[in-house]
Amino acid sequence: MSVLKGFDPEIARMIELERQRQQNKLELIASENFVSKAVMEAQGSVLTNKYAEGYPGRRYYGGCEHVDVIEQLAIDRVKALFGAEHANVQPHSGAQANTAVYFAFLKPGDTILGMNLSHGGHLTHGSPVNISGKYYNVVAYGVDAETHRINYEELEDLAMTHRPKMLVAGASAYPRVIDFARLAEIAHKAGAMLFVDMAHIAGLVAAGLHPNPVPYADIVTTTTHKTLRGPRGGVILCRAEYAAAVDKAIFPGIQGGPLMHVIAAKAVAFKEAASEEFRLYQEQIIKNASALSAKLAASGFTIVSGGTDNHLMLVDVRGQNLTGKQAEKLLDEVGVTVNKNTIPFDPASPFVTSGIRIGTPAVTSRGMQEEDMAVIGEIIAMVLNRPEDEAARTKAIAMVAELCGKYPLYE
Ligand code: PLP
Repeated sequence: MSVLKGFDPEIARMIELERQRQQNKLELIASENFVSKAVMEAQGSVLTNKYAEGYPGRRYYGGCEHVDVIEQLAIDRVKALFGAEHANVQPHSGAQANTAVYFAFLKPGDTILGMNLSHGGHLTHGSPVNISGKYYNVVAYGVDAETHRINYEELEDLAMTHRPKMLVAGASAYPRVIDFARLAEIAHKAGAMLFVDMAHIAGLVAAGLHPNPVPYADIVTTTTHKTLRGPRGGVILCRAEYAAAVDKAIFPGIQGGPLMHVIAAKAVAFKEAASEEFRLYQEQIIKNASALSAKLAASGFTIVSGGTDNHLMLVDVRGQNLTGKQAEKLLDEVGVTVNKNTIPFDPASPFVTSGIRIGTPAVTSRGMQEEDMAVIGEIIAMVLNRPEDEAARTKAIAMVAELCGKYPLYE
């Protein structure tokens, strides 16, 4: 850091301020996490200098003997972690991985059946503002109005009526277990490929705490930086029969040179994810989410679907006479970071929303447990149930500081 500080103090200062923000605030964004020092060391290495277009043993550049070993290790580790026949570890992000899947298997104008963004789906699953919504004919499925769980009957009807080429499953804001066996049955009955984007739940899947989509789906993608706790990036897993199509879609289809420093960091994260320690960590994420959800419900909040099975919950803040946008800002002011989020059948716009999304992966990485979730729940309730109460806000700020002080990051 000292070289950077000497040469570029403006950037060095912002990195230091961001480090302090991460240390001093409670990170409850469900898609974020804190990587290990080993992951960070691999990512901040000389590998950032290397061009390696192509794949291990089949490169368009010389000098790839070491990066070949690294990429092969990443491939072998992630295949073993999820039981996949083939893996491509080069996608620069989750969105790149998903775009490559569409590029590999669809033609513009083909029909895809994806989860409605406002019911928990992701932009890349057919939103009109994303390439997936612009190039393909999108039909959307959602959750049941009563239970807020995926409406598999409606999904099956839509699949049989529209006969999509691809059924896209997976979500960014769905707190319940996804039934991949059922989705595979529906996809096959309708003659569609099943594509599962397990970005949010990949860590839980690796630990055996959520059903694994790999045995059921034709193609699976994931990000590596959410519950999986690796560097920012993506991965595609598939059956051997689709390997060539997937690899060609990534390079030369939609990407150029792979980011070898990120691939090395992915390999390190996959090694970590195969450990018993990681399994216990994932167990704690789920225990923490359940504890926080229960505390919030007991404090008068409506939890979408009545609770959570995984690492996140959606909180409907209409009972507090707040919008999601207001709730996000109020919490930010006391050092609690969440994001506003639409809830199913939300009457408010996506910029305002009626809910917030809360996740426990990052605070669990800091070592927090159920008793700490009770404190976090109390902080959230104090601030959102009594937004005008200055004394409550002051107390909340002190409680955040105490909790963050108890669990230091990167010491
Ligand atoms: N897929 C899902 C389900 C996601 O939640 C996200 C990110 O939030 C992505 C894909 C996109 O990942 P990235 O931000 O790495 O492009």
